Order: sequence, then C-alpha cells, then structure tokens
Amino acid sequence: MKPIIQTKELEITYNQGKSNEFKALKGETVEIYPQEYIILFGPSGCGKSTLLYCILGALPSSGGEIFVKGENIYKYTSDQMVRYQQSTIGIVYQSFNLIPSLNVLDNVSLPQIFAGVDSVEREARSKILLKRFGIENIAHKLPANLSGGQMQRVAVARSLINDPEILLADEPVGNLDSISAEQVMDTFEEINQKDKKTIILVTHDAKYLPYAHRVYYVRDGKLEREVINPEKAQIKKTEAGTTIITEVEKLARIYPYSSPDELRVKSIINYLTQKLNFEQLSRLEGVVKEMLEGKISGDSFLQKMITPFAQEGIGLTRSAGGMMTQKMKKMLEESRDVMRLRKMREANAPASYQRAFVRRLRAHLLDVYTGQVTPLQMKRFDEIIADRVYGITRKEDFQALLNLPLAKGGVGFGARTARAMTLYLEKLLAQGVPVAHEHEQEAL
Ligand code: ADP
Ligand code: MG
Repeated sequence: MKPIIQTKELEITYNQGKSNEFKALKGETVEIYPQEYIILFGPSGCGKSTLLYCILGALPSSGGEIFVKGENIYKYTSDQMVRYQQSTIGIVYQSFNLIPSLNVLDNVSLPQIFAGVDSVEREARSKILLKRFGIENIAHKLPANLSGGQMQRVAVARSLINDPEILLADEPVGNLDSISAEQVMDTFEEINQKDKKTIILVTHDAKYLPYAHRVYYVRDGKLEREVINPEKAQIKKTEAGTTIITEVEKLARIYPYSSPDELRVKSIINYLTQKLNFEQLSRLEGVVKEMLEGKISGDSFLQKMITPFAQEGIGLTRSAGGMMTQKMKKMLEESRDVMRLRKMREANAPASYQRAFVRRLRAHLLDVYTGQVTPLQMKRFDEIIADRVYGITRKEDFQALLNLPLAKGGVGFGARTARAMTLYLEKLLAQGVPVAHEHEQEAL
C-alpha cells in the first residue's frame, strides 16, 4: 500500500530573512496511509497547526516536499491547488470559521458553489449531511444562534460537502464543553470508520489519543516519536506478524530500541493517563520510571503527582493524584502474581500451587465486578486465565472466551466486562513478564 500523504524533510520558516525569523518545522518526514486516523499531539506552539496547513497547501515551502496521492503539491499550478483544496481536502477549525451572514444550510453548501455544482444538487447534498449530523432542524438559523457543538457539527458537514478523501481538523473540540466535544470526536471516528476518510487531527489533549490509529508526538518543530495505538487494527502494516503475545511485546515492536523498563513505563502510562497534557505526560513517564526502578516510594510518587505543575510536579489534585497512586500500587502489587505463577510453572510446581495463584489473579480481575459468579464460571475463568498467562492463548482469544456463553464453553460475561477484564489482565501481564531481550527483568 502506498501512503496517501508523504512529507519529506519538510521545513517551514516564518518571516524568513527577517529579524523575527522562526523555524516552525525542522525537517518533518511522515507517511500517512489511506483511511488512517492520525493525531498530531504536542504542546502549544510546537508546530502542529503548521504541519496541518502545509498539508492543506496553504503555506509556501521553505524546504522539503509534500506528496499527496503521489503528486508533489508544491509543484501545483494555482488552478490545481484550488481544485486540490476543494475536492481532496476538507478542514475543520477550532473556531468553526462559519460565515456569520449565511444560515446553516448555506454555510454547508458554500464550498459546492465554488465547485460549480448546481443549486438543486447542492441543496440535496447539504440536506443529507445536515440530517446525518442531526442539525437539519437548525438549517435556517444563523451561526450566532447556535451552540458551540452545533457550530462544529455544521463545520464538519461543510468539510465533507465535496466528499474529500482527507479530512484535517485543527483542535476541533478545543472550544467545546466535554459532552459536545465527545459527540464531535465520535463523529470523526465515524467519518474515519464508515466513510473511510483519512483523518489528521491536531490536539494537545491526551484523552483523545485512543481515537487514532497512530499518534505523532511533536515537540519544537520536530516529530519526537510515533506511537501505534495497540487497541486499533493497524492500516499501516509494520511487519509480517508472528503472534504477538503481550502488550510489552507489542510495545517492543513499536519501540525496538527501548529497554524492557521503558516499555513497562509506557504500558503503565497507557493505563493511568486520562486528562493530562503533553508536558504532564512526559513528567509522569519520568516518575513512573523511577517508581518501577524502585528509586522512589509510593509516598514520593504521590507527592510528585500533587506537586504543582509550576514546581516541576504533575499538578494533579490531591484526590486525582491519590487515585492514580492507588491504581499504580495496586496494579504493581497484583502483577507480582503473574510472575509468581510463571515461576511456579517453570519450576514444575504441583498443580495445586499453580491453581492458588490463578485464583489470586481471578480475584484481582473480579475485584470491581459486581455480578454473581457461579462455581462453573469460576472454573472456566481459571482455565482461561492460566492459558493466557502461560502464553497458550492470545489476548483476543481470552476476551472472546470471557464473552462466550457458558453453554458454548465460555465464562458468559457481558462484552464490556470481558473487554475491561482483558485490558486489565494485559496490564498485569505487561508488568509481570520479562521481555525477551538481552537482560532479564527481575520480578518487582
Ligand atoms: P501549534 O499548532 O502546535 O500550537 P503552530 O504550528 O501554530 O503551533 O506554531 C508553531 C510556531 O510557529 C509557534 O511558535 C508560533 O508562534 C509560530 N508561528 C505560527 N504561525 C506563525 C506566523 N504566521 N508567523 C510567525 N510565526 C508563526
Ligand atoms: Mg495550533
């Protein structure tokens, strides 16, 4: 498969040659594949929007190349550029950028006027989109009379009116309350999954990262790293896959040069992170690493969580920091049972000993489960846990078996429960498993 967008050593210098010259992009090389959902993540001012506007063809080149569908867009004539911006690319902005004097219907159909579509067809197509995004009832309102969430849905509809293959979004939910933000983010997800559009979305909010197939971390005009979302089937094929056994092994593929310790840090970070910004996240990685290496205690971990951001802490509230510390300690404690179970098995310990640790793991997984569990379910659950810990089954098998009805040989949990328990066991496995690298990890 060929990338749909490719930048090569892309550079952007603002105010070139002047005293206020500023290098906003310092040689970016990215490859984005058709139907991928990519997030550009990084602190304010790192160059995310600049990269997006380069792809839009809105910034003159200061160096490097951008290919879209195999064509160098810097070589476009102005006519070709207009066509490209009209029909290949759609864009959504943080501040909506609706035209105040036009009603919703006209805002959505405007790009079609420029594209020369006749008025009957324009209206028909616009109405389909209004309906789809649940805004047909406000078709005749002016933007000033809409809520933020409504305005952004209008802007999303407008971005799709010429059926572009690529959708760009610059902090599209940055101005929305959390409920509207979630609705709009779900809309992008659907546009990616159902309409098969390639999406490049800019955010500085870590809680949206799980939407993406891949995340590019941007800092100081450079792509610092690329992270593959292990929860999404990847479009960009990395290498022909042998079976991936644990999350740490997955992470080891993404970060082939990381030490096992760093991989475990990343796994924990995936688990703990909610609403942290880029800088908080980097600091959290450092603190988790110190904790895993035994350099700091649980108490100092908590202390760092709640130290104000300005004083080099993570800047969480006492209750959020306390919860995060609890979660972390509990998970590390429980992951030891994975290691113990594996050691027992390696040492060929009596089955009853091994079973005792399987039961402990089962109890960890059932900790937050409020339903009743019958003896038969427990028996099945134990077998399934043991198979997963010994590496006989894959994560997907484990989850499917938890969800499978009892009559068919499964445990009969609901889909959500099965998923939550699978994710948690994977976290325990990630911490409890030495990665097959040159140096073995000791149990925590
Ligand atoms: P982000 O979207 O990551 O917040 P931007 O891409 O908007 O960052 O900006 C990157 C850097 O380039 C910032 O330091 C910003 O001040 C600077 N910059 C952005 N646009 C211009 C411009 N038109 N002229 C001069 N400097 C700019
Ligand atoms: Mg920006």
